Amino acid sequence: MSAAKQAAKRGKFMGMLEKAQKMLEKYSICDHCLGRQFALLGYGLGNQRRGKALKLLLTMKGHQMALTGEKKGVSLLKILTVNTSLDMATKILKRLKKRARKRRECHLCHDKFESLNELVDHSLKKLKNYEYTTFLVGVELPTETEEKEDEFKAEFEVKHGESMQNHFSREIGKRISETTQKPVDYKRPNVVVLVNPFTGRVKLKANPLYIAGRYRKLTRSIPQSKWICRECGGRGCPRCNGTGKMYQESVEEIIAKPTLEKTAGEEASFHAAGREDVDARMLGRGRPFVIEVKKPKKRFIDLQNLAETINKQAQGKVKVLNLRFGDRDTVRKLKKPEMGEKVYKAIIKFDRNVSDEELATLEKTLISTMVRQQTPLRVLHRRADRIREKYIYEAKIKRLTPNRVEMKVHCQGGLYIKELITGDQGRTNPNVSDIVSAKAETLELDVLNVITRGS
Ligand SMILES: [Zn+2]
Ligand SMILES: [Zn+2]
Repeated sequence: MSAAKQAAKRGKFMGMLEKAQKMLEKYSICDHCLGRQFALLGYGLGNQRRGKALKLLLTMKGHQMALTGEKKGVSLLKILTVNTSLDMATKILKRLKKRARKRRECHLCHDKFESLNELVDHSLKKLKNYEYTTFLVGVELPTETEEKEDEFKAEFEVKHGESMQNHFSREIGKRISETTQKPVDYKRPNVVVLVNPFTGRVKLKANPLYIAGRYRKLTRSIPQSKWICRECGGRGCPRCNGTGKMYQESVEEIIAKPTLEKTAGEEASFHAAGREDVDARMLGRGRPFVIEVKKPKKRFIDLQNLAETINKQAQGKVKVLNLRFGDRDTVRKLKKPEMGEKVYKAIIKFDRNVSDEELATLEKTLISTMVRQQTPLRVLHRRADRIREKYIYEAKIKRLTPNRVEMKVHCQGGLYIKELITGDQGRTNPNVSDIVSAKAETLELDVLNVITRGS
């Protein structure tokens, strides 16, 4: 190997120690912050130990140089007394009858890594008000601190370091874990502890709690979700008796109220797999829903007990079943539009008496039929005007009176049944009115079943 190559190789190896020495010659850097600049080198070490190890090697180097009479050795030892947890350099200087320098605060962290306990105690105190199984520490840093760190990294061409934020987060997380015996979760923590090591401020942010289930609606008089009064926009007016609502109750409110009480949450969002009309009941196994509780203080709640409370307070109007804990994905799956299949029961009234033959034809025509449906006129104000094709798998017609029948259809989700019956001025084809050649209207509509995958 040529001398030049050997020197280059040595240069690379020496690089780390020389770099550390250059950093300390220019600034006072604590063990934690020095180690952080080399965080990717070595495993399971901790930045503090990395920093200490580098300073120990530099102390030995300085001692060696001083013993061989090199003046630079003494100045290196002096530098190491400025900010180090080792007092070895000070002791060596004393033996050499040289004076140590005065200790200085860390240029990068202002010794904040040395005083984390207060921050940890503060966090633990706040965490006591919450029920959680996992947490994560988020770190806020003053802009000038971040800039200083960036400039420092650029100045010394730091290539194997990590961010100060990560470093703080891990150190604080480790200590909270030790006390609480709860693990840090980087992806989906129950609670985020937001700390600012420089101001000492601690904020807690509880992530939402998701409770999934199914509901049955047993009355024809309440909407699925809270319905703000159209007249006053929620401020309260004569039309809504000052309540700001079109309906005094909704499935959403009936489920949300006891849920918020038991979880001590701030507010709740209600998500459901589609919706039935106000005057339609939701029967059978019920419709899948997820209630999302924002900022819950309690998570370890008894869902059986919650279901009983909801059902009792609902006084037979709504019944929840199958309650279980979910997550963000549960909501996403629920929102996949028009997924799954539905079973409806409608009571239809014709404007004349209909024959058995006509009813047989109606049933036969509906079975295994693709219905082309343009967005119904009654929802056109809130839905895009487009044509959708929905399949009817099964249909059953039963006569009730000379001009009334019961119709059960099992169809693809998203088919509008009231329009299947009236024809919606020709926007839905085929339709019951056309098939029978008699004007048909819906007297009652119930959803008998919502069939979705995985719920
Ligand atoms: Zn520091
Ligand atoms: Zn009003």
